[in-house]
Amino acid sequence: MATTKIDERTRWDTLHKNGPFPLKRFLTTKLEKTSTGLNDFARYNDAATEVQRLIQRAADTHERFRAIGSKWSMSSIAHCEDRMHFNSFMNLKFSIFEGEMHENTAYEHSNLFWLQCGNQIKEISIFLEQRGKSLKTSGASNGQTIAGCISTGVHGSGIAIGSVQDYVVGLNLITGPRPEDILYIERKSKPALRDTYAQNFKAIVIRDDEIFNAALVGLGSMGFIHGVVIEAENLYLLHRYVKKIPKAEALQLADSLDFNNYDPKIPNADFNGVHPFHYKVFMNPYNTNEDMYAVEFIYKIKYYENYKSDFGNPIPFQKEFVYLDLIYLFIKIAEKIPKAIPKLINALKTSILPKEEKTTVGKLSEIFWDAGFQGRAFACSFGVDHTQSSKALELLAALTRKHPVPGIFAMRFIKSTEATLGFSKFPFTCMVEIDGIQWDDDENIISLKEYSKKMIEVLKDNNIPFTLHWGKNANWEFPNLTEHMYGTERVKKWKKVRNRLLSVPMQEVFSNDFLDTVKLSEPLPLDDDLIV
Ligand SMILES: Cc1cc2nc3c(=O)[nH]c(=O)nc-3n(C[C@H](O)[C@H](O)[C@H](O)COP(=O)(O)OP(=O)(O)OC[C@H]3O[C@@H](n4cnc5c(N)ncnc54)[C@H](O)[C@@H]3O)c2cc1C
Repeated sequence: MATTKIDERTRWDTLHKNGPFPLKRFLTTKLEKTSTGLNDFARYNDAATEVQRLIQRAADTHERFRAIGSKWSMSSIAHCEDRMHFNSFMNLKFSIFEGEMHENTAYEHSNLFWLQCGNQIKEISIFLEQRGKSLKTSGASNGQTIAGCISTGVHGSGIAIGSVQDYVVGLNLITGPRPEDILYIERKSKPALRDTYAQNFKAIVIRDDEIFNAALVGLGSMGFIHGVVIEAENLYLLHRYVKKIPKAEALQLADSLDFNNYDPKIPNADFNGVHPFHYKVFMNPYNTNEDMYAVEFIYKIKYYENYKSDFGNPIPFQKEFVYLDLIYLFIKIAEKIPKAIPKLINALKTSILPKEEKTTVGKLSEIFWDAGFQGRAFACSFGVDHTQSSKALELLAALTRKHPVPGIFAMRFIKSTEATLGFSKFPFTCMVEIDGIQWDDDENIISLKEYSKKMIEVLKDNNIPFTLHWGKNANWEFPNLTEHMYGTERVKKWKKVRNRLLSVPMQEVFSNDFLDTVKLSEPLPLDDDLIV
């Protein structure tokens, strides 16, 4: 039997200490041991039974229940005061064989994998690489769980790929304690697996695009994601180079994403006119004299075995590089200047982003490597249409100069998602992000709550449509925020699917304060349900 350890707690915190948050119980489920002779299907189903028992227990005690992944979100999206369920030990992985594919599928069976929720990006990459495969994209680093990633919409700068949820082709949800609450959902327009395969997991099959798309970025509130089916691809290499280019050139590329006639002039490589796999612009908002911006170009190239003999082992390089993730870059700059926050901000006015002109080549898992900083940090991240990226960056940077906070900016670009509440909703979304370290109230600078409110206001005042990264800091209380970002129809669509998948009592079990705040926990009234 899978077993759950229940710890009585008073509080918990995120990786970057964005809490602490009050908590009654912290639940950790471990799978049945392999030594008992159960096969992996039986161990998986046994874990499902255990999760259903825990859901029933929460419902019986009128408490809320929330799965958490690696606790990397900086918003309170993973928080629930009653029962939080840590699922990182639930990490079974299944390859899919030809006979298990749906008769009308367009997917190649060797690219599909059924992954239990708690698998972390790093361990998935290791598993895939042993089979000659790779994830299509990830975030800047690799510690999140697969269920945690898709629940907020984790992205890198996948201009042609999208976000993590965009290569998920099937979802195995547990929406309540009854046998019929174990579901396997995929798009009707893109079927993947045979019903008989899903029945190995005792799941009822639903093929429906609208349901799938709404459940895909489910904010932890569409039930318990027990497993996902991902589409991987053959191993490839990434050629990475960070250089400084004129500010106007960096912004023009951001606004147009037109690389057709662009030559990045990378030593010993010809990427003239090639569209990058990933394009990222870094910006220190305080140094207005800087006329060159640091940009990260990553190009996809064909995989070959002995790339390390040509380019060296990428890992030691990546470890010493500063342009890994934005918080880490900030920390590296801040190391050299005074610790006191106002002095640090002042010093940023003349601080120049460092140089890093060195080629690295490696697999996705080697380029998007471990997070280099674990202390107190904040991150705010806005999605805007890429054609408005330079305008949004300038507005947010000007606001930051007026109300200084200890952070720096970056922009990343993502292809549109089909997920109903995915923040990469524009044809190409530019994520304008500011990351940095937290400050204390007595430091005489604007509070994070007030600063993030002003960020929303400045975009609204300038008629720039935007979204917000669900897993990052924001003024989530801002009136009518979710409808402003997604429009009434999308919000209704998402709620309609929630009504369809979860009974009203189960919607309460799978809600949290965050969902209440963003006005998504209230079930859709029946009349509205009918007319959407
Ligand atoms: C160092 C660092 C780097 C980051 N880099 C990036 C980046 O490059 N790009 C980016 O987009 N984001 C980035 N983020 C944000 C972070 O990746 C996301 O917030 C992500 O969702 C966190 O995943 P997690 O596994 O930690 O999930 P958690 O933060 O623990 O949970 C996130 C959500 O998933 C839900 N959830 C988890 N498991 C389940 C389940 N089994 N069933 C149902 N719901 C579930 C939770 O309830 C919660 O709502 C970064 C964060 C950090 C700390």
